[in-house]
Amino acid sequence: MQVSEGGMEIKLKKAKITLNDCLACSGCITSAESVLITQQSQEELNKVLKENRVLKEMNEEEKQKIVVVSISPQARASLAAKYKLTTPEAAKKLTGFFKSIGVHYVFDTTFSRNFSLIESQREFVRRYRAKDIQPGSIPLLTSACPGWICYAEKTHGDYILPYISTVKSPQQVMGSLVKYHLGPLLGKLSNQVYHVTIMPCYDKKLEASRQDFYNDLYSTRDVDCVITSIEVESMLEASGISLADIEPVELDTLYSSLDDGNPTNHFGSGSGGYCEHVFTYAAAELFGEYSTDLTFKTLRNQDFKELTLEKDGAIVLKFAVANGFRNIQNLVQKIKRNKCSYHFVEIMACPSGCLNGGAQIRPEGEESLKDLVARVEKLYKSLKNSKPEENTKIHELYEEWLGGIDTEKTHKLLHTQYHAVEKMSNALNIKW
Ligand code: SF4
Repeated sequence: MQVSEGGMEIKLKKAKITLNDCLACSGCITSAESVLITQQSQEELNKVLKENRVLKEMNEEEKQKIVVVSISPQARASLAAKYKLTTPEAAKKLTGFFKSIGVHYVFDTTFSRNFSLIESQREFVRRYRAKDIQPGSIPLLTSACPGWICYAEKTHGDYILPYISTVKSPQQVMGSLVKYHLGPLLGKLSNQVYHVTIMPCYDKKLEASRQDFYNDLYSTRDVDCVITSIEVESMLEASGISLADIEPVELDTLYSSLDDGNPTNHFGSGSGGYCEHVFTYAAAELFGEYSTDLTFKTLRNQDFKELTLEKDGAIVLKFAVANGFRNIQNLVQKIKRNKCSYHFVEIMACPSGCLNGGAQIRPEGEESLKDLVARVEKLYKSLKNSKPEENTKIHELYEEWLGGIDTEKTHKLLHTQYHAVEKMSNALNIKW
């Protein structure tokens, strides 16, 4: 009903909510999304593992699919917190668990995040340099959060999309690595490799289901199945075993950045540290500033903060982190009104970012969500930091796999595109 100031009521047309209106905020799941999500569940993984076991019994192991699991550092920290383990212990026990059920390789998406961070750094510097001749180059908005991408495509379409970084998220870069580097290395086609990721939110299932990450030729996705932290917990419960009791297994080295056998991390926020990494790189590359102060200024709330670089009394770099839809909406309105003074914004849909993802393990007993997230953050940050641009394995892969920096292959395998979706007002046929 629409009620006028004078109290007159007018009955409005019935509103229909379609899949196109969903912002994938993990708050609810529509039935169409449930179909997509069912294709991405532990049952699907179990089916593939069972088929492999049958082939083994028939002595036809060569027909087996190579099963790969890539674990995100946020999901790993959540599981470490749940089972009261250190982060390296959780990494090794998760490797032990997945290998015990028939998985061939277990990797860490911190490794693929090296590519996402390096590509974001380069994209930013290129766009910053072009900002005076190419309007619309700046601000650069991050692209690793599918909740935010979904919102931008569905509600702000063509206007906001050009500002979004084209760099693939660590999940999807790992998809490229597993299907188009590991596959050929093992003499397998991309549809003979089954790739599962372990992620902190349901939105990552929708990201993996995007048409942009589907290979028509081999009818396969770069990531075949996404399992969340809470789904790993239920897999463990179903097998009647606690992660704490699982035998640790050494980590696979091919796509992992290790220090003395333990996983490493990137400095900065729990969502990947995009803001800090791009800021330090840009400060050095554009202004010759090698030791920068990374003290954030908190603005309206803890989830909106900024970082600036001053040179000769003027602000030359102005970066921000915006978490949660309330802050994202404010930022988008500023961009639309041409009032955004930021050069770069790390945008994450979840308040507190990925460590508080919608499918991370929830608190138990007396513990509050805030305390649990603080514990997960401590575990996440407990590892030794490594710099993506100093990773020799990554440089080798640029040369050997991608044919160098900024090649056609680099763009195909590490970058993506976005699509404006019909606006809600059109779908509902409402005249505002
Ligand atoms: Fe997923 Fe939330 Fe991280 Fe976005 S911020 S990628 S929705 S966990």
